Amino acid sequence: MPCKIPESCERMREVGAWRGRVARRKRERLSAERWSEGAVPVWTELVAWREAHPRATFSEIEAELDRQLTGMRARILGDLALASATADLQAASVEERPRCERCGAVLQAQGREERGVVTQGGVEVRLERSYATCPRCGDRSFPPGR
Ligand SMILES: [Zn+2]
Repeated sequence: MPCKIPESCERMREVGAWRGRVARRKRERLSAERWSEGAVPVWTELVAWREAHPRATFSEIEAELDRQLTGMRARILGDLALASATADLQAASVEERPRCERCGAVLQAQGREERGVVTQGGVEVRLERSYATCPRCGDRSFPPGR
C-alpha cells in the first residue's frame, strides 16, 4: 500500500539514510548505547506511521515494522562484522592476522577499501575494511569471510 502522507515517507527515507553510513568510520568498540540511540528514530517513525495509517491491516503493520527494522538490522550487522581485530589488519598483530586460504601464508594488509554486502530485505551494508594480499601466492581477499 503506497504511503498517503508524502511528508512521512520523506522522513522515513531520511531514517533509511543511516543504513549507508554504517561502516565509514574506523573500527569502533561495540556500543549498545549507540544502537539504542539509533533505534529511537525508528520507534518514532513507527508511531507516526501508525497514527497516519489508522486503518492499516495487521499485515500492513507487519510489513512496515519489517521495513523499519531492516535498516536497524543492517546497521547492527555492519557494526558486528567490523568489530574484530581481523577486520582491521593494520591494527592486528602478526598472530591475529588471518592466513591465506590457498597456501597458509600470513596475509599482508594492503590498505582499506569499501565494499557493499547486500543483506536481508535488499539493504546494502557498506563495510570499510582492510583488504589483504598473500605475499606467497598473490591471492587477494577481505578477511575474514572475504
Ligand atoms: Zn597464498
